[in-house]
Amino acid sequence: MNSPESVSMSESNYNWVCFDCRFAIRQAKTSEHIPRCASCNSKCVCVGYKLKIPGKSDTKGWEKLREISREMDQQTKEIQKKYHETRIAQLTEQIETLSAREHNKDREKLIAQLQEELDRLLLRDNP
Ligand SMILES: [Zn+2]
Repeated sequence: MNSPESVSMSESNYNWVCFDCRFAIRQAKTSEHIPRCASCNSKCVCVGYKLKIPGKSDTKGWEKLREISREMDQQTKEIQKKYHETRIAQLTEQIETLSAREHNKDREKLIAQLQEELDRLLLRDNP
């Protein structure tokens, strides 16, 4: 597993696809530029680097890939949601605790920072 090929197959190259056109392209996830489909010019979806990309005529393979991609997306959203809920509870508690104490400049600054993060999280959960 020490060949240069196995290195380039790792995280540095992710598969990006357009499900409608069955178009696939490899590009690093860290790149800020989201690749576009060569056929319809819509933004490609990242499907990671582990999944095998089916051939263009492999309709079933592409359906399966779309299904897996949806599931992965759902899982990510659920993990994020759980994290948000936990963080919101933490922040709310911290703000309450700090607010109950005697006020000083540093504490007020900290409360404001926590409140700002809380607001951002609440905003993201209820767009
Ligand atoms: Zn396309």
